[in-house]
Amino acid sequence: MQQEKDLWSSVLNILEKEVTAVSFDLWIKTLEPVKTKNNELVLVASSETAKNQCLKNHSTAIRLAIKEIYKSVDSFSILTPQEKKDLQEKQEETEQLTQIQQKPLCNFNKKYTFDSFVVGNSNQFVYAASKSISEDPSSKYNPLFIYGGVGLGKTHLLHAIGNNLSKTNPQLKVLYVTCEQFTNDYIDTLSSNRKEKSLVTFREKYRNLDVLMIDDIQFIASKIETQEQFFHTFNDLYQNNKQVIIASDRHPREIATLSDRLRSRFAMGLIQDIQKPDFETRMAILRKKAQDERYFVSDEVIDFLAEKIDTNIREMEGALQKSYFYANLLGKQQAEIQDAKAALKEDFEKEKKAINPENILEKVCRYFNVTEDDIIGKSKKKEIVEPRQVAVYIITELLDLPLASVGKIFNGRDHTTIIHSRDKITEKIKTDNRLKIAVEDIKNMVLKK
Ligand code: ADP
Ligand code: MG
Repeated sequence: MQQEKDLWSSVLNILEKEVTAVSFDLWIKTLEPVKTKNNELVLVASSETAKNQCLKNHSTAIRLAIKEIYKSVDSFSILTPQEKKDLQEKQEETEQLTQIQQKPLCNFNKKYTFDSFVVGNSNQFVYAASKSISEDPSSKYNPLFIYGGVGLGKTHLLHAIGNNLSKTNPQLKVLYVTCEQFTNDYIDTLSSNRKEKSLVTFREKYRNLDVLMIDDIQFIASKIETQEQFFHTFNDLYQNNKQVIIASDRHPREIATLSDRLRSRFAMGLIQDIQKPDFETRMAILRKKAQDERYFVSDEVIDFLAEKIDTNIREMEGALQKSYFYANLLGKQQAEIQDAKAALKEDFEKEKKAINPENILEKVCRYFNVTEDDIIGKSKKKEIVEPRQVAVYIITELLDLPLASVGKIFNGRDHTTIIHSRDKITEKIKTDNRLKIAVEDIKNMVLKK
């Protein structure tokens, strides 16, 4: 910049000798260099009149002086202050756009890769579909809708797809956003002073992609306008054969207020669940985490954690870390079973407290979408009787209560009715897979807190 200034001072020195003192002071001195572009020096004058005077009366002198000093420049132009401002604004806009188009759209968590993902029965299909997309997007599964409980690896897989794509197809524009980010982006657009322009920028951002991943889409449920916007974004991408990947904590049909239009869009591709890992997979995940993060723990600790925590891998990881840190604080190299037990004592106690009849009833009601009054009441309708029996079954299974006390919870039913309900579900889940899953899900919901 200094050099630029020096050059321009030299031009002014020449011009001062070439033109009258009045013209120099009034017009020429007000000129300032803005930039050089394609062998042309762009100047700004202090006013429209100054610009016109310079161009009309001193154009040749200015050009020659510039040519003498700026070796690579052979012409010039002059802007008025207003023109300069307009130009700057336009430039900013294009810069913004190129920034959006060029910069890596988001940083994927480097730890979340396919290599660090342990594959087991619970997640092998979703793993395979994700891997396939990351090698060849928009060919087979579009959209891919991944759903499953909290902490089971959905976000991990989305990042793994992103990480892999940036290696195998670095030219692709891949964006990962949470539903919350998408919603906020859209709301910002609505509240912007320059709404039209913001909307264009929003569209540029979301519709010029090759791969769009939206995490935790269940949060879109209550936001009708955002759903609308997402619908258009989705259609645009889909019609242009671009890949869309969505993650949610539940199946689209269980996202209560999801518009039917979106629900049927999601159904056009692959809807794949990710289930809770079985014991062996939990062990494998723990072993891998312990190894990767260098948490030294005995095999017994791994066994204990895999046994105790079976619904949420994030919690399992947390417990592993806690056990190791606890032992470490005591100056030990490796955590033994007693360290793990001591480290997690409070967590497990808290968990136990949350298991009570009220909590179980609440979860059953939420799951089956019935009210507590329904369940406790006398209705003989199938859609009430089954949840009631499930509630009885889970309460008797998880709590060590006398049958008469359980009966009291259900409006004073006697213990034979309670036994009947419990046995009915025990039998039914042997053959009815849907019911078996429902019972498992509710138990997990209860045990989670
Ligand atoms: P979700 O998005 O389903 O709530 P995350 O993807 O955030 O869950 O996973 C929670 C944690 O569990 C992360 O640290 C992730 O790395 C880990 N995790 C989940 N599934 C696996 C797996 N199969 N193998 C290894 N780590 C896993
Ligand atoms: Mg997640």
